[in-house]
Amino acid sequence: MQVVKHPIAVDENVATAYLTSLHYGSPGAGKKVYIQAAVHADEVPAMLVAHFLRQELERLDGEGRIKGEVILVPAANPLGLSQVIHGAPFGRYHLSTGINFNRLYKHVADDLKKSLEGKLGSDVDANVALIREEARRHVGLWEPKDDAETLKKTLLSMAIDADIVLDLHCDNEALMHMYTGTPLVESVEPLMALLGARVLLVAKASGGEAFDEACSRLWWDLADHFEGTAIPPSCIAVTVELRGENDVRYDYARQDAGALLQYLGHAGVLDIPLAPLLDAPCRATPLNAVEPLSAPHAGVLVFHKKLGDLVEAGEPVADIVNPVSGQVSTLCAEHAGLLFASTAHRHLLRGMHVCKIAGTESFRTGDLLSS
Ligand SMILES: [Zn+2]
Repeated sequence: MQVVKHPIAVDENVATAYLTSLHYGSPGAGKKVYIQAAVHADEVPAMLVAHFLRQELERLDGEGRIKGEVILVPAANPLGLSQVIHGAPFGRYHLSTGINFNRLYKHVADDLKKSLEGKLGSDVDANVALIREEARRHVGLWEPKDDAETLKKTLLSMAIDADIVLDLHCDNEALMHMYTGTPLVESVEPLMALLGARVLLVAKASGGEAFDEACSRLWWDLADHFEGTAIPPSCIAVTVELRGENDVRYDYARQDAGALLQYLGHAGVLDIPLAPLLDAPCRATPLNAVEPLSAPHAGVLVFHKKLGDLVEAGEPVADIVNPVSGQVSTLCAEHAGLLFASTAHRHLLRGMHVCKIAGTESFRTGDLLSS
């Protein structure tokens, strides 16, 4: 294993920050896998899963059983992890700019559409190799304007040419669920089965330039642009939401790390005993079929339904109780679906997020990710 420390914030008059990546196997010897934990900093279950991944990868590497390259970034956001406001960790947004740490990654497809004009042919492998080379070059040309962008560039530089990218997050309170690109559903279903994920949310472009999409979407954007040229979706990038932020348990973390390693085993990256793959526990859900509910006024949030419940259209999901005015508003889902994620707060202001319900019928447009 090789440990690399990347300088992120190194001005000598303020606090410094370095990012650490752990490198296993041999670059070029097989597939490249990139795994990062907690780019939203205080999404702690991901870091505990990384702890178990690290132990296993170290052992497998020592035994020569890694058939390719695996990069693990066990705490992907040293800037966010250092942000604590009056005792409360605050890792989703960069405090200096208010920008979400998982948004605005450089999407290189537009640059590649120009630089690859006339250079791609009928040889799939040659196309893939050239696209990766150009993608690396264009990420390298990104000029970060602040420390958060330096962090984003550093993370993306390690992942942009990977075959598999696993971005480990969690929600506030949630069932295990995942996000990926629509063209990747078939490749991601085995992971869904291994993790026991209850929802797989998919979109071709979800808006906001999240990390997983910055790695994967360029492939189908280029395939659409260079129509008729052999460009397969060559990066399986997935955002894995490891339940809720307080689901930090050794049993979950061991089980989840085991599932991720099995996935890499089935992908031919790890030489480990393989369990048979089961069918995916559910079908992929279009991201634009997710119904977010929000608070119509300030008050105490009381759920009628719990995570994992199926909700009918028009059925009460939660109440907002204002203890001063006495107003009680009942929130109902407009569309039937599975209640899979909710806020961890129990007093909300008007407009604050309450929960998300995964339906089956597409109905939303515009940016599909929560801020
Ligand atoms: Zn997150």
